[in-house]
Amino acid sequence: MAKENQEKFQCPECDSQNIRLRFQVNTKDKYDAYANVSEEIQCGNCFMDIPANVFIYINDNDIEDNKKIWESFYKPEHLKNAAQCSKCNLYYWQIEKQLFDKSIISPDIFYQTYDSKGSGGKMICRLCDPEAFKNNKQ
Ligand SMILES: [Zn+2]
Ligand SMILES: [Zn+2]
Repeated sequence: MAKENQEKFQCPECDSQNIRLRFQVNTKDKYDAYANVSEEIQCGNCFMDIPANVFIYINDNDIEDNKKIWESFYKPEHLKNAAQCSKCNLYYWQIEKQLFDKSIISPDIFYQTYDSKGSGGKMICRLCDPEAFKNNKQ
């Protein structure tokens, strides 16, 4: 790859250039807006998972385009499908970020409650109920 075409990175959500993770995603189970996304980047600042194609830019004027595409196309879908705590209303990446700040790095950040009337489970996060996760540490 020629040097002038080198990939550069900027988060369309918070403008950070830090990457926490870059990972392949399986498009098979993905909803429509993400059907063509094969790779995502987790921002090292806001911790949001963002399709790599709007995180990577080559020319400086791509940055604004990436932001527009993220805001209008991917982000609404992402928010619709994202796991959210029913107590504090934070989304999973906000919870991950706060746990990270407390040096807790774990994929285990939610538990689900079921009410007896069967109207569906509630998700409770590790920030709201840290005690519930204590046994999992051993
Ligand atoms: Zn970000
Ligand atoms: Zn919570």
